[in-house]
Amino acid sequence: MIPVTTFQGRKVALFGLGGSGLATARALKAGGAEVVCHDDNETRVRQAADEGLSTEDLRTLAWDDVAALVLSPGVPLTHPVPHWTVDLAREAGVEIIGDVELFCRERRKQCLSAPFIAITGTNGKSTTTALIAHLLAELGLDVQVGGNIGTPVLELEPPVPGRHYVVECSSYQIDLSPTLDPSIGVHMNLSPDHLDRHGSMENYAAIKERLVAGSKVAIIGVDDRLSSLIADRLELAHKPVCRIAGERELTEGIYASHGFLIEAHSGTQQQVALLGGVDSLRGDHNGQNAAAAFAALRALELPSEKIAAALTTFPGLHHRMEIVARRGRILFVNDSKATNADAAARALSSFERIYWIAGGRAKAGGISSLDEYFPRIAKTFLIGEAAEDFADVLEGRVPFKISGTLPQAVIDAASAAAEDGAEEIAILLSPACASFDQYPNFELRGAAFVDAVRALPGAGNSQEVA
Ligand code: ADP
Repeated sequence: MIPVTTFQGRKVALFGLGGSGLATARALKAGGAEVVCHDDNETRVRQAADEGLSTEDLRTLAWDDVAALVLSPGVPLTHPVPHWTVDLAREAGVEIIGDVELFCRERRKQCLSAPFIAITGTNGKSTTTALIAHLLAELGLDVQVGGNIGTPVLELEPPVPGRHYVVECSSYQIDLSPTLDPSIGVHMNLSPDHLDRHGSMENYAAIKERLVAGSKVAIIGVDDRLSSLIADRLELAHKPVCRIAGERELTEGIYASHGFLIEAHSGTQQQVALLGGVDSLRGDHNGQNAAAAFAALRALELPSEKIAAALTTFPGLHHRMEIVARRGRILFVNDSKATNADAAARALSSFERIYWIAGGRAKAGGISSLDEYFPRIAKTFLIGEAAEDFADVLEGRVPFKISGTLPQAVIDAASAAAEDGAEEIAILLSPACASFDQYPNFELRGAAFVDAVRALPGAGNSQEVA
């Protein structure tokens, strides 16, 4: 835990007692603050009280002597409407911050030299965060990884010289961090997402920009236009900027192309790492992630050859194009995290011959945007609520079967793929749907896929079952 000492002896109101909220309350208390916690959920309030945290309804709190309101990132700061605690704090002139801000203040106070790499963007945050942490660990460095990716940032070990923090930041966390100051800021990309919570694309982009604007060195993905503009603006403001890309060539920066990472500098182009053959880094989107991670380590002045070697051992993240088994020419790929068509497009573009398992609870737009990938799909196996609608889209264009359930779809896909003579075949769960009609979350849906693969006859011949 990182005890938060910057509010020692002062009163702090905290709203939101989920995982990171509880961790923040404990860290504030350990650092000597007087924390008053609250949540709409009574069970959580009781839990906090049971472990000795002070709880109180913040509606009736005397706000005059409150030094800060600490909010969980899930609580609306601005849109659709500010949470009532935000109104109370604003009326009383109390600053409103989150756990990442507390981390930044503590790092500045305890050990500013501890490298702090913060990662944001619409997509690829978790993969890039995990990849940077993997590379640093492979190079023998002291690494702490957390934030939006899992371990709340204040549950990490305290800052000491040489300890590297790799922290995934959602836009909500950035919004609650007015003095966010990473040594290296990484912004991956921008596409419309969470606009219900940010009001407009401009506001969403402006929040993301703050992470790189506050950093010492900015690493910016320039595959999309809005992010490219961010890079231009920061450069005009004399910020050191490194551009990275997964889908275009650059004259200055680091980009992925034809299975290699290329470093472009002062008119020279140099292949610095091989991505081809690294299963966990397939696809243009992972090229962008690898380029960003490579750039982050180069910004720390770590040697290219060592970074390149460490890239090849990245195990990848569960449920994101994860190869869970390989049986002869057939790969079994768990991409359960692909809960919308955009994410599924990434996986569909990464394999040449696909037996596709799709369906669940459909998102607006369904799968009609995926037609450019249809020629790669040998057959689709449909599951869940969306099966009939998806069948209508595929009718006459891609062979399909309504399998109904995920275990049945795995059996159907495996028996169809066994007859296929292609050199490499992917049986791909990339549902383009939420899981909620059949599973509580995408993780359990992915686990069910792995179980079904293991239960196939002859699974003993599989390799690399995760
Ligand atoms: P995030 O943490 O931003 O949600 P993840 O790394 O968990 O991102 O990846 C989630 C999904 O987004 C992946 O399954 C993949 O389909 C897609 N994805 C991953 N990296 C990128 C990227 N750089 N650009 C676009 N899509 C990506």
